Parts: sequence; C-alpha cells; structure tokens
Amino acid sequence: MSTAAFSAEELAAGEALFSRGWRFVKSVPDLQFLPSADRAEIALAGRSNVGKSSLINALVRQRGLARTSNTPGRTQELNFFEAPGVALFLVDMPGYGFAEAPKANVEAWTRLVRDYLRGRPNLLRVLLLVDCRHGLKDADRTMMKLLDEAAVSYQAVLTKADKIKPPRLAAMVAETEAELAAHAAAFARVLATSSQGGSGIPELKAELALLAAGHGVLPGASASP
Ligand code: GDP
Repeated sequence: MSTAAFSAEELAAGEALFSRGWRFVKSVPDLQFLPSADRAEIALAGRSNVGKSSLINALVRQRGLARTSNTPGRTQELNFFEAPGVALFLVDMPGYGFAEAPKANVEAWTRLVRDYLRGRPNLLRVLLLVDCRHGLKDADRTMMKLLDEAAVSYQAVLTKADKIKPPRLAAMVAETEAELAAHAAAFARVLATSSQGGSGIPELKAELALLAAGHGVLPGASASP
C-alpha cells in the first residue's frame, strides 16, 4: 500500500492545524450566501453514509461539530467551518448517491455543487471520501466528472478502514489509485482512514497541513497554542 510516510514535524503540523478550536460558521443552501473567498478552502465530499461527518469530527476532535445530516428530503447545503488564527475554511459538501432521492433534489444538488466547484478560486482541494468496503461507485464517478470539468484538484480518502482486513484495504487503495490515475485533476495518493479507530487520521491531518502550508494558512510557526 502506498501509505504516505510523514516526518514527525509534518505530523505535528497536522495536529497543530486541527487542534485550534474549529467551529461552525454557516450553512449555505445557495451560492449567494457563500462567505467571501478571503482564505484557502478544503472541502469534503462523498456518498451519504460514507462517514464524512465522522471524519470531520475525528479531524477536529469534536464529536458533534459536523452533524449526520443528509437525508433524502433534506435541503442540500454546504457547511463551513473555521478556526481562530487559521486562514482556512473546511467545507462539508452535501452527500450524494441516494437511489431513492427525488429528481428535483438531485438536480438541486448538481447545480449547487457544480456552481460551487466552478466559482471558488480559493478551493485548494476536495477530499473524495470512499467507503473502503465498496470502492468507487457510479455516484462517485459523477462527482469526479464534475471535479474534472471544474479542474478542481481532488484526493480520494478511504473511510472505515477498521471494517476490513489490511490486505483487502491495501488492495482497495491500489484499485482506487489505479482508477484515479486516469484523471488529470486527481491526486495520485489515496489515504486510508478510520474515524473510529483513528488510523490514518494523523496522516490525513499532516497531508492537509502540508497543502495548507504552501498557501499561508498558518501565521509563522506550526506549534500548537
Ligand atoms: P455521513 O453521512 O457521510 O456524514 O456519514 P456518518 O459520519 O454519519 O457515518 C455513517 C455511519 O458510518 C455511522 O453509523 C457511523 O458511525 C459509521 N462510521 C463512520 N466512520 C466510521 C469508521 O471509521 N468506522 C466504522 N466502523 N464506522 C464508521
């Protein structure tokens, strides 16, 4: 498995970035309500039930920050989070892939997500969450098409890694990396995470801190306050 090796310094920078008291900013059901693009932004996307809320909560070490929310009839929203002293928004994108979702909801989701991806110059990367038991599904491929068309960089993150044995997880990482290799906007490395067991979370934090570091997200030193 191409598990990324991070230095102790990079892991510490990841911890520092995510231990800064992240808080909810606002829900955006329509792009006219977007906060101004005055800082970098990293968004998380994935099929409903993929473990997106759990992953956000694991990253920021707060149980209830991101709510388990996406039910078929519910209004689709982008949820924004910020932390003091960090010039970065984390964005929880509306989940997708409900087979039974009404057509109007799918259309509203597509419009919101497509317009957001196209019109957000400060968006550094989208994390495409994929359940490690299932791998990429057609709903993910629809999302990948939107990302490719908007030329937004994205990286797959496998979730629920505690649910399968290491050899199967390694195979799923390899399979996912192989499919993503054909997509120009996709990041080559796939990370495997478990919000429940914690595996891969420090590495994901380090990966995002590395990404953020190049964009002036943290002022000066990376030490935790
Ligand atoms: P969301 O709809 O993508 O926000 O998904 P949630 O975070 O609400 O998670 C969906 C379900 O998967 C919940 O029952 C979670 O408890 C479970 N889940 C999420 N992450 C993990 C994980 O890392 N390991 C295990 N075993 N279950 C998880």
